[in-house]
Amino acid sequence: SSQQKKDQMPDWSDYRGILVFVEQRDGVAKNVSWQLLGIGKKLADKLDTALMALVIGDNVEHLANEAIYHGADKVYLCEGPELKDYRTQPYSRITLKLIEDAKPEICLFGATGTGRDLAGAIATHVPTGLTADTTQLDVEPSPSRLLMASRPAFGEKLMATILCKNHRPQMATARAGVFEALPRDPERKGEIIRIENPIKNEDIATKVLDFIEKKNEVNLEEAEVIVAGGRGLGAPEGFKLLKELADELGGEVGASRPCVDAGWITHEHQVGQTGHTVRPKLYFAIGISGAVQHTVGMADSDVIVAINKDPDAPIFQFAHYGIVGDLFKIVPNITAQVKKR
Ligand code: FAD
Repeated sequence: SSQQKKDQMPDWSDYRGILVFVEQRDGVAKNVSWQLLGIGKKLADKLDTALMALVIGDNVEHLANEAIYHGADKVYLCEGPELKDYRTQPYSRITLKLIEDAKPEICLFGATGTGRDLAGAIATHVPTGLTADTTQLDVEPSPSRLLMASRPAFGEKLMATILCKNHRPQMATARAGVFEALPRDPERKGEIIRIENPIKNEDIATKVLDFIEKKNEVNLEEAEVIVAGGRGLGAPEGFKLLKELADELGGEVGASRPCVDAGWITHEHQVGQTGHTVRPKLYFAIGISGAVQHTVGMADSDVIVAINKDPDAPIFQFAHYGIVGDLFKIVPNITAQVKKR
C-alpha cells in the first residue's frame, strides 16, 4: 500500500520517442551525432517508439537528410543565418520549445563541448536530471521505459548506472566513439519537419568573433587512423617513430596509460578505460600488451594491427593482423613502404 504508492511511477505516457541532437559546425556533422542515432535506434526499437533528430544551423538541410540515412524517423530542422554558429541561448531556446511540443522521453547529446553546454542548459530549465559522459545506454521495456545510463565513476573504478525516475525527458550526454553508427542508407525514408526560426540577432547576447583552432590538438575520436604505442617503446623518443608513420597515413598518435603516466606523451593521446574510446578504420597497437583497460578503448576499431615481440601478448587476440618482432625494426620498415606508395 504506502510502499506500493511510493514505488509507483508517475504517468509519463505523454512522453514518447527518442530525440538526438545533431551537432554540426559549418554544415559538417560530428560523427558522434550518427553514433547517437545508432544507439538511439536500438533503444527506440526496444521501446517500440520513434527516433527523432534535431538539426539547427544555417543551410543544413543536407544534415536532416543524413540523419534519416543514419536511422532517424523524423527530423526537426531549424535554419537561419542567426543559427550558423552554436550559442547556448538560441540553441537551448529552440531545443526547449521542441521538448515542450514533441515531448520525447529520452534526449541524447554528444559529450562534446557543445553537447555538454546545451544539455546542461536544457536540463536546468526543464528541469530534469542529466547523466553526463555515458559509455553505456540501455532501456527497460514498458511499463517503466527507464533509461539506464551508465558511466565510469569513482576515479573510473566502477561503472555507475543512473536512472531518472521522477522527471521527463530523461537526458544523457554520451562519449564520442563508444557507440556504433548504422551504415548510411540513402534509400531510407523519413519525415523532415521545419521549425520556424524564432531567433533574431538582437535576441542573442553573445557574438562569435572568430574560431581559433587549438594548436597540436589531438582528435582521436574523429581520426580514421591511429598509431598507438605502449611501454614497449622504452622511452619518449619512441613516439617519434610512430608520429612519422601516423603523418604518412594522415592519422593521429595514441598511447597506453603507462606512457602517459611516465610523462612520455600527454593524456589527450591516451586510449582506454581512463582515456579515449576510439573506433578508427585502422588502429596500430605497437609495443602494447593488450590489457583489458586498454582494449576496451579500441577493440571496436575496423582493422587492428598489433606489433609485439611477445607472440603470447594478449593484444594478438584482438588483432586482425599480428606482427611478432622488434618494433624498432618493423615500424621504420612500414613507414618506408608507405612512403613508396
Ligand atoms: P605493458 O603491459 O608493459 O606492455 C608492453 C608490451 O610491449 C609488452 O607486450 C612487450 O612484449 C612489448 N614490447 C616490449 N619491447 C618491445 C619491442 N622492442 N618491440 C615490440 N614489442 C615490444 N591502460 C591503458 O592503456 N589505458 C587506460 O585508459 C588504462 N586505464 C586504467 C585504469 C585503471 C583503473 C587501471 C588499474 C589500469 C589502467 N590501465 C590503462 C593500465 C593497464 O592495466 C595496463 O597496465 C596498460 O595498458 C599496459 O600498457 P602497455 O601495454 O603499454 O605496457
